[in-house]
Amino acid sequence: MKVIGLMPNEKIHWKKFSCTCDGKMEKCKVCKYTIAQNSIPKKDFFVKQIELDKKGKPTGKIIDKKISEITIVRGSDDDVQGWKF
Ligand SMILES: [Zn+2]
Repeated sequence: MKVIGLMPNEKIHWKKFSCTCDGKMEKCKVCKYTIAQNSIPKKDFFVKQIELDKKGKPTGKIIDKKISEITIVRGSDDDVQGWKF
């Protein structure tokens, strides 16, 4: 898996904050951002895709497409909001 858009920890804005959960029910920003960060895929994965013929028309078959490169999408705190492939 190739991940584009990784940042060194010292450059990530939200890593300067500390957890403020303090027993509260809802998780704080830092905890949410940590979960998002840890959810970045480390291994190649497959997605289901409609197979297209050479003219770009659906063949009616569903195929597994291997994803081996993703680009991280970040929010204003440099938090991981998702990834594109
Ligand atoms: Zn927290």
